[in-house]
Amino acid sequence: MSTFELFLNDEEDTITFGKELASAIVIDRMHTNKGTELLRNPGFEIMGAIIYLVGDLGAGKTTLTRGVMRGFGYEGAVKSPTYTIIEPYEFEKSKIYHFDLYRLAHAEEVEYLGAEEYFSPTNLCLIEWPEKGLGSIPQADLVIELTQRGIGRSLSCNNQSKKGLKIIERLTEKGRN
Ligand code: ADP
Ligand code: MG
Repeated sequence: MSTFELFLNDEEDTITFGKELASAIVIDRMHTNKGTELLRNPGFEIMGAIIYLVGDLGAGKTTLTRGVMRGFGYEGAVKSPTYTIIEPYEFEKSKIYHFDLYRLAHAEEVEYLGAEEYFSPTNLCLIEWPEKGLGSIPQADLVIELTQRGIGRSLSCNNQSKKGLKIIERLTEKGRN
């Protein structure tokens, strides 16, 4: 297992990390040096992954998700789908699903949402409050934990699969490609 830690001073740092995470998930970024501009192409392709976002209310899970979506070139509103549980973002070749399981009373409720198809390994699923869905959601490739520290946040990220490791490697080789 590989881990890395980061301190995020403010909301902007959280957004920036989200953008970097998006660029670590895009498949074809190696073929260009245009950086995140590449991601504004609606035909971008991603490696699918299951990412758990762990942390208390207000820790920054939704802010991080917003950063990821900004990285993919999406400028619309990104809010916690607290009542709808799932927010889909479907692009030409890539599907991204943002979950907020906070309101689930039972993990099995995830199955009634028809979530099975969202969990295809080619999709990116960002899951807030994964604890509430354990047993009914796939195992994580990557677990990102956010903790309030003074006015900032500490972030720790660890992989639970080879795919997760690949994402961490791409995140930490920043600037090299
Ligand atoms: P969660 O989804 O974990 O409940 P949100 O992302 O909705 O949390 O909200 C967290 C709040 O913390 C927002 O007001 C956001 O501006 C702020 N925030 C996000 N990241 C940071 C950070 N690194 N440092 C300080 N405040 C942050
Ligand atoms: Mg949230």
